[in-house]
Amino acid sequence: MKHVLVLGAGQLARMMSLAGAPLNIKISAFDVHSENIVHPLTLEVLGQGLEQAISQADVITAEFEHIPLDVLAVCEASGKFLPSTDAIKAGGDRRIEKALLDNAGVKNAKYAVINERNGLDAAIASVGLPMVLKSALGGYDGKGQWRLKTLDNLEQIWTEMAQCIADSNNQAIVAEEFVPFQREVSLVGARNQHGDIAIYPLAENVHTDGVLTLSTAIDEPELQAQATQMFTAVAESLDYVGVLALEFFDVNGQLLVNEIAPRVHNSGHWTQQGADTCQFENHLRAVCNMPLGSTDAVRATSMVNILGEDSVPDAVYALAGCHVHWYGKEKRAGRKMGHINVSAANQRDLKATLIQLADLLDESAYPALRPAAKTL
Ligand code: AMP
Repeated sequence: MKHVLVLGAGQLARMMSLAGAPLNIKISAFDVHSENIVHPLTLEVLGQGLEQAISQADVITAEFEHIPLDVLAVCEASGKFLPSTDAIKAGGDRRIEKALLDNAGVKNAKYAVINERNGLDAAIASVGLPMVLKSALGGYDGKGQWRLKTLDNLEQIWTEMAQCIADSNNQAIVAEEFVPFQREVSLVGARNQHGDIAIYPLAENVHTDGVLTLSTAIDEPELQAQATQMFTAVAESLDYVGVLALEFFDVNGQLLVNEIAPRVHNSGHWTQQGADTCQFENHLRAVCNMPLGSTDAVRATSMVNILGEDSVPDAVYALAGCHVHWYGKEKRAGRKMGHINVSAANQRDLKATLIQLADLLDESAYPALRPAAKTL
C-alpha cells in the first residue's frame, strides 16, 4: 500500500483517490488554506498540519498550481514531492511559463511583461494591438484578463491593471498578441521517473465565458505529432514526473501553446471512460514509480462540464454511454459541480448521443452542448 498526499482537496484529488484504490494507492488530501488533512472523498478531517501530512506520505503531489511558496518549499525539502517546484511555479506564474516555453523552443504567442505604466506602452509597441492582458499570478478560467483592441480605453484598463499589480506581492501583467485561432485543443500525457512518456489523443475544447464546457477526444495524426513534440520538449526540460497538460491554439493547423498545467486536467476527464487507462491512474502510476498504463482511446468520447447545477434528470443516467461524475460540492452559480462523460462506438454515434443528451438538459445551463455536438 502506497500513501500519496495531494496538495489541494478538490475534485482532482477526489478522482485520484477513486483511481488509486484498485492499485492499493491510498490518497490523503491537504487543504493548504485550513491546513487540514482530509479524506479526499468525504472531506472528513483526518489530521492537522503540513508536518504530520508529510510524515505519513510516501509521495506528495498537487492538484493545483497556486500553492503558497512556503508550503511548496517544505514539500520539496522532504524529497517526496513530484512533479517539482519548478513545474508548479511554471504553471502558476505566466512569466515563468513563457520563459520555459521559449527555452524549450516551443511556439507560443508573442508577449511582453508589464510592471508599470511605461511597460504598457512598450508592450503595445512590441506586441501590437489587439492584445490580451493577463495577470502573471493567480489567473485561471479567464479571470484576471483584459482585452485591449484600440487605444480608446487604454487609461481605464491601465487603472484596473495597476490595481491588480498593487493588490498582490510580485504581481505583474503579461501582454500577449491576440491569436486569431480557429479552435482550442489540449494534450494530456504522463512521464514517469524513467523518462517513459505516454500521451493521450488530443482533445478539442469549447470554452464558454473563459470556462471549459466541452472536450472531445480527436484523432488527427498531423496535429497530434506537433503536440507530442511540444509536450516532450516541455516535459523533458522540466524532468517532469506525473501528468502534464498543454493547452493550444490551433491557427490554420499550426499549434501555439497557450498554457501548461502541471497536473491532471479538466480536458483529460474524458479518459475515465474513453481511454484504456485514465489520467488519474496514470498520474499515480508516474509519481509512484510504476509503469505507465496504455493511453489508447477505446471509444469516441466527449466530456460535458456540469456548471452550477447539482442534479440532472434521471433520463441522463439511463442514456447508454453516459456516465455522470459528481464532485460532492455545495451548489454555487458557475461552480464546477461535476461532469458527464459521453461515449459511443464511433464519432457519428457520439454526435447522436450528445444531441440526445442536449435534449434532456436545460439549454441555459449547457449553452455550448447542442451547437458543439452539431459540428462534430
Ligand atoms: P487562459 O486563461 O490563458 O486560458 O485564457 C482564457 C481564454 O481566453 C482562452 O481559453 C482563450 O479562449 C482566450 N485567450 C487567451 N489568450 C488569448 C490570446 N493570446 N489570443 C486570443 N484569445 C486568447
